[in-house]
Amino acid sequence: MDLMYKSTRGDEYCTASQAVIKGLASDGGLYVPTEFPVFQKSLEEMSRMDYRELAYNVMSLYLTDYTEEELRYCVNNAYDEKFDTPAIAPLREAGGAYYLELFHGRTLAFKDMALSILPYLMTTAAKKNNITDKIVILTATSGDTGKAALAGFADVPGTGIIVFYPKDGVSRVQELQMVTQKGANTLVAGIHGNFDDAQAGVKKMFSDKDLEKLLAAKGYRFSSANSINVGRLVPQVVYYVHAYTELMRRGVISAGDPVNLCVPTGNFGNILAAYFAKRSGLPVNKLILASNKNKVLTDFFNTGTYDRNREFYVTSSPSMDILVSSNLERLIYLIDGCSSELTADLMAKLSKAGKYEITQEMMEQLVDFYAGFATEEDTLAEIGKLYEETGYVTDTHTAVAGSVYRSYKAGTGDTTPTVITSTASPYKFSAAVVGAIEGDISGKSDDELIARLSALSGTEIPDAVASLSSAPVLHKTVCKIAEMEKVVLDFLK
Ligand SMILES: *Cc1c(COP(=O)(O)O)cnc(C)c1O
Repeated sequence: MDLMYKSTRGDEYCTASQAVIKGLASDGGLYVPTEFPVFQKSLEEMSRMDYRELAYNVMSLYLTDYTEEELRYCVNNAYDEKFDTPAIAPLREAGGAYYLELFHGRTLAFKDMALSILPYLMTTAAKKNNITDKIVILTATSGDTGKAALAGFADVPGTGIIVFYPKDGVSRVQELQMVTQKGANTLVAGIHGNFDDAQAGVKKMFSDKDLEKLLAAKGYRFSSANSINVGRLVPQVVYYVHAYTELMRRGVISAGDPVNLCVPTGNFGNILAAYFAKRSGLPVNKLILASNKNKVLTDFFNTGTYDRNREFYVTSSPSMDILVSSNLERLIYLIDGCSSELTADLMAKLSKAGKYEITQEMMEQLVDFYAGFATEEDTLAEIGKLYEETGYVTDTHTAVAGSVYRSYKAGTGDTTPTVITSTASPYKFSAAVVGAIEGDISGKSDDELIARLSALSGTEIPDAVASLSSAPVLHKTVCKIAEMEKVVLDFLK
């Protein structure tokens, strides 16, 4: 029997491959597995697997309607030389924690871990389900998803990809990475608005039935590469198991020992995958959620009230500048007794009043989580402190998590081995990072900052950064929020 997926907002069921194609359920809900599969192999067995073998084993539990041949084809094509290290996701000890470096893929952010495989999962799913329409990936990005999705889908036959990003809400390297993207099937557009505006605009197009009909008549259908897609979530479960088994191989822990997982969080996708890993049997003590100054999630976990009615800040960790964390809906559904009525009701409140409150009973199910936040000062200080103590350099997002972990440890005295997911290469945010270590950076060009970062960290400048300043800008579209649909229709003409 195949594991089925169900919408968080209604009785819409489908298989994993159908969930991958659809992205979002037609009632606006997110797909969740109807039960949590548990690991079939022991931790010892999994500790003897390389990344690909482990990826196949973990993902096959969740994506049961893919054949072994299909899934191995997807895994083997995703986790190859696109990554600059055969380890795929190396674990680096520094300052009393283990940094799981998830930025060794093509676009230097953890999004590559899932977006390297999503195009394969999706085109395989289309074949399986006899879909002949061209699949158009429609995505809003806070900076990193966009580029990782573009790199994954560029020139993939039978697909097109459209990315909207907040024109003034991403780093310079992030923007350059996107607007220099090659591929006839790609479109990148900046919007005058923030990430939440971009995400709301995209969601609106997804649920517009008239637009759906119009596109179907032309042989197109939308799908999503955002972290709400099951095909994003499942590949992310893998690296938590990989980190755990790596700690076993190093003799830091034995099979069954608990670890903490500390995750810099925005849309709640990465840490949700950690929660899934735990539900599938990974021995996890605390899931430590780290927010930046936009601490809507930290407040939610500590008070039980989700309230997006607050000021929005542009921070040095832009990929976490989010006030509506889409993937939280899945956790809400799982802790409210899997009631789609209740979930739909809370989400309606969020969309109407920007706010909802969960019950005491639901709160009690969040004991696995600890939530904290780092201010801009905390974040930059963390980069400087860690560098001074260890010589290790992290990016701003990872530093948010590092800072929260530092206070967690000091506050609780918990000495459980802790994995901090390192979600971006510091080279993506070289100005902020070099500034945090050296102070004044005024007058330094981008190239100088990148060279300085290389000297400070003792690492080579990644090709993806080195080639940027000379790459031609191929995408110049900037539009108003209200014009997003027009931009899409023009591209698909
Ligand atoms: C996307 C992103 C995050 C946030 O991850 P979520 O899954 O959205 O919580 C953190 N850091 C970086 C560098 C990212 O690109």
